[in-house]
Amino acid sequence: MDFLKYAEASAALLNADLSQVDGLTAYLEGRDRLRERATDRDCMLLRKFQRELRPVFEAGQADRVSEVVGGLNELMSRHPITPRISDHEHGDLHLHVATDNATVADLVVGESLLGLATLVCDLGPDRLGVCSAAPCTHVFVDTSPNRSRRYCSERCSSRANVAAFRARQKAGVVS
Ligand SMILES: [Zn+2]
Ligand SMILES: [Zn+2]
Repeated sequence: MDFLKYAEASAALLNADLSQVDGLTAYLEGRDRLRERATDRDCMLLRKFQRELRPVFEAGQADRVSEVVGGLNELMSRHPITPRISDHEHGDLHLHVATDNATVADLVVGESLLGLATLVCDLGPDRLGVCSAAPCTHVFVDTSPNRSRRYCSERCSSRANVAAFRARQKAGVVS
């Protein structure tokens, strides 16, 4: 698995609107076999997982790194993962989450946790965050070299820059 991709997918999962199964099929774009199998029950289980996972990103944003690690460990014991060594990329061995008998929710939760756990081990537990452009509450994983990310998206970043510029203008710092 490309753990960065899975960690990013995990942030996208938290940001997804899963109030309807349509939201889940939109999230699963490009994964047709999973899309066909997604049910209302998967959607309900993933909404529950969203509520469980958000505090881990909030702890990351607040630099409470032991809570990030503890939270992920707790979630991995609550949602056991079955990893599998795969060679589907021409003998380039890597880990996937096993799909045998897994529901869509199991698989998405497993990929999300394995991706985040690997990110935390490889890049550090301070890589999870919540967007600083209020009122946006979207989460992100920070894969920048100097850990400088503050916003969930370019859109929020430019919105925050415009707001900061206006605030300086109002304060008479710029004319
Ligand atoms: Zn693969
Ligand atoms: Zn945002």
